[in-house]
Amino acid sequence: MKDEIAACYSGRLPIVSSYTAHFGEEPCLSGTRGAGNIFFGNCNLRCVYCQNYQISQTWKTQRKNEVTIERLAEMMLELEARGCHNIGFVSPTHFAPQMARAILLATEQGLDLPIVYNTNAYDSVEVLKLLDGLVDVYLPDLKYADSADGFTYSKVRDYTLFARRAIKEMHRQMGSDLTFDSDGLLQRGLLIRLLVLPNGIAGIEENLRWIRDELSPRTAISLMAQYYATNKAATDQRYILLSRRISEGEWFEAVSLLEELGIEEGFMQEYESASHYYRPDFADREKPFRDIRDFE
Ligand code: SF4
Repeated sequence: MKDEIAACYSGRLPIVSSYTAHFGEEPCLSGTRGAGNIFFGNCNLRCVYCQNYQISQTWKTQRKNEVTIERLAEMMLELEARGCHNIGFVSPTHFAPQMARAILLATEQGLDLPIVYNTNAYDSVEVLKLLDGLVDVYLPDLKYADSADGFTYSKVRDYTLFARRAIKEMHRQMGSDLTFDSDGLLQRGLLIRLLVLPNGIAGIEENLRWIRDELSPRTAISLMAQYYATNKAATDQRYILLSRRISEGEWFEAVSLLEELGIEEGFMQEYESASHYYRPDFADREKPFRDIRDFE
């Protein structure tokens, strides 16, 4: 790797914005002692509504957070020593090689936790194949069902095409079944996150149909209500369709699709508690998820 900067504004060394025990993930990841999240700086997407834009879209500031691979491995071991249930790499796509090396180093030094790959799914299948056996849990978003929306709101081409290809590869590696330990903590599998956006922009129905038909109705879904307008979505008139929270009606429409389409496995957020969820600084929030099968 050379010291070149490309679309992801990242170079040879990984950038870590923060690492912490995180309690806002799905209950099977947060458990009682937290998910051991490592938040990489920068991102390969430029979502106009990014809730972490201070981390994902400020590459000049982020350069000061570069760390060595050895330091990244140490962070993983520190999170394990703190009692975290897993190591969750957040926005790992542009640092996949550095992440893989750090996992190997930490494993040599005794790390024994599930590795979670928490991605926007704009990943290359070729790279995912190389991660086969290194990653235990894939946690991808599936953001849009129409690539035109991916271009307008996340500034990348062919999002839906690439994300679906990537998720198919994740499913090839993991299958549809989730493996839990005796405490209900996720050890292995694929859990797809669908964030409901206002005005039907996330294409939830189409994506759920794709998951059911191309993967399996048993593929686990995490349906998320946490959207709120921030970053450019809050200020730029071009993104006016994203300038509000989702309505209760939009949320319940998405929830009813789960049953209508026969989706069997997964989690959903509570509409009321979701507005601040997922920011790294909200580490102490109570768990806002419940099991899909509990919904009536
Ligand atoms: S993919 Fe996620 S982290 Fe990256 S810009 Fe979009 S919302 Fe932000």
